[in-house]
Amino acid sequence: MAEDYYDILGVSRESSDDEIKKAYRKAAHEHHPDRGGEEAKFKEVSEAYQVLSDKQKRSQYDQFGATFDQAQAGGQGGAGGAGGQNPFGQQGFNVNMDDIDLGDIFGSFFGGRQRQASPTGPEGGDDISVAVDISFKDSVFGTERELELYKRVKCDHCKGNGAEPGTKIDTCKTCSGSGQIRQTRQTMLGAFAQVTACPDCKGEGKKAEKPCGQCGGDGRTKENKKIKVKIPAGIANGQTMEIGDGGEAGLRGGPTGSLYVTVRVADHEIFTRENYDLKCEIPISFTQAALGDKMNLQVFDDKVKIELPAGIQTGKTFRIHNKGIPHLQGSGKGDLLVEINIITPGKLSGREKELLKSLVEEKGESSEVKKDKKGFWDKIFA
Ligand SMILES: [Zn+2]
Ligand SMILES: [Zn+2]
Repeated sequence: MAEDYYDILGVSRESSDDEIKKAYRKAAHEHHPDRGGEEAKFKEVSEAYQVLSDKQKRSQYDQFGATFDQAQAGGQGGAGGAGGQNPFGQQGFNVNMDDIDLGDIFGSFFGGRQRQASPTGPEGGDDISVAVDISFKDSVFGTERELELYKRVKCDHCKGNGAEPGTKIDTCKTCSGSGQIRQTRQTMLGAFAQVTACPDCKGEGKKAEKPCGQCGGDGRTKENKKIKVKIPAGIANGQTMEIGDGGEAGLRGGPTGSLYVTVRVADHEIFTRENYDLKCEIPISFTQAALGDKMNLQVFDDKVKIELPAGIQTGKTFRIHNKGIPHLQGSGKGDLLVEINIITPGKLSGREKELLKSLVEEKGESSEVKKDKKGFWDKIFA
């Protein structure tokens, strides 16, 4: 089992900020890699201090453990508010790999699962929400991330049923094992039957004779777990994936919560995105615009040919079909939209100036504009 942050610093849960600071200084000194300490241990100490020295983080940790964000994810539409991120990054503890089958992962985008309120059966585990940052290119091609979550998992010792192995689990006497108490209320409008969870067994219908020594009868323990998450090609900034069974284990074998992963996509220096279309603007020279040109664009791993016709104008947009961003569902891709931007040269050599002047003499100043936009031209210039 992973160590508790308080244990790592060797302080009690009641320790003051000062005591924690002192303990951290001592531990950091002792484990500092520059002084021959073990790097992993030093990292643990730093992580523990990072959390316990921050009032808000500490109180969240006391309440929820390292996976703070579950608090926001519970209840309705958990994914919507997923702004948090597992504050412990990708490294730190050595734990077992726990890969989740990806088959059931991308059930719903923009998650928002309605939690099933069941009057009977053990309480379900909490949902967890995290955010991951990916590059624009990774959003186009898809990627994989390993998340590390400190969360409640099924207790190995009792296999999640909460009873010490070898001891019995009895039927609850209060509700005779139904987990429900049925009461009939008389009102002015008639009799109503009301069903509530049995207070004695919390709706489970059974009770352990002797609670598990490892988990105290909850059927779950807290551990660091690594989870590989596949982020599909085509995902957009702000979208949330729901990973069923990626959340916290339920009480005594109750249903496991979901993990919501919200993806944040970084901006790209060349490309932007609109729906599934990939957009970029390319600068060309005015001679290329006037004479036409052929060019090759590097679109990530792909090369795209563009043929500029002579006389092209700024703002002209080429649409290249099926060279955009892959659709998340189904097949196919959006388009690539390339917008032309003609750059007027800022500096000219003497020779270039001469050539341009002779061009003006040749054609007459602004003759083309005058011809094309006669009415407009006459109105705007005196
Ligand atoms: Zn147990
Ligand atoms: Zn009961």
